[in-house]
Amino acid sequence: MALDSRSSGGATPDSAYRITDVHIHIQPWRQLKPAAMEAMRRGKEEHFEFLLALMDDPTLLLRILDEQGIRRVGLVNYPSERVMGFTDATNEFAVRYAATDPARLLPYGGVDPTTTRDATGAVEHLVDMGVRVLKLHPPHQGFAANDYTRGLTALADIYRACEARGLPVMVHTGTSIFPGARSKYGNPMELDDVAIDFPDLQLIMAHGGRPLYMAEAFFILRRHPRVWLDLSGIPPKNVLEYFPRIAEISTKLLWGTDWPSPGVTSMRKNVEQFVALPLTDSVKRAALEENPERLLPT
Ligand SMILES: [Zn+2]
Repeated sequence: MALDSRSSGGATPDSAYRITDVHIHIQPWRQLKPAAMEAMRRGKEEHFEFLLALMDDPTLLLRILDEQGIRRVGLVNYPSERVMGFTDATNEFAVRYAATDPARLLPYGGVDPTTTRDATGAVEHLVDMGVRVLKLHPPHQGFAANDYTRGLTALADIYRACEARGLPVMVHTGTSIFPGARSKYGNPMELDDVAIDFPDLQLIMAHGGRPLYMAEAFFILRRHPRVWLDLSGIPPKNVLEYFPRIAEISTKLLWGTDWPSPGVTSMRKNVEQFVALPLTDSVKRAALEENPERLLPT
């Protein structure tokens, strides 16, 4: 069967962990620009119609989560009109989708600092809507994560408002394969400024700078107490090649898969590969279960 997520025949996997996947892509894919849609479709042509339907119907996702033994998921959404085609309506989409089961579906939203006219008000609105994490995507939105030090004041307003309201900020780091994405903005070293200037902000570093900037990522993660590592986008079986000393940052690990982005066929398969790594059970439990529940309480 083409889609791994439907291949378990309804049997519930016996899971030793209460898993939160902090990073999956449930987004209004029908808004994707043609070139982005093509990149998204590549490699999953056979079940792309199913994935489009999944973006319209939360009950389909909940069934997949049951089949795969995943307790909660973070629904990554952010506006990116120029590269992806997503407008601010992506925020309402996430909240509406998650309303079907708010205990299991965590809506994320975003504000584009390069286009917003009222960054503080936009963050307040997201909090009032029930958004759980604010996502920034520098390569898709066209700025560096510390560009407030060079005059992008809306970006400082976003960080300040999130810090004040206790809203965690997830920042994409590393490369992106979508046409028009500027991967030079993927260097996690930019988060050094952010963590210094907004010391109470909870910062989630998505993807650990992979595949180019892991040394910078590890430095930032060890240096700043409120920076977390979202493991999504790193092939789980290669995690120890990317981060050989990952056990030293076990209190900052957040499990994530990036499903169903290019190359990620099943949330469960990634969990199984991660659990098979030669790490202690306490490190695995911290990433899959304890840390996500600390940052994003149930
Ligand atoms: Zn992602």
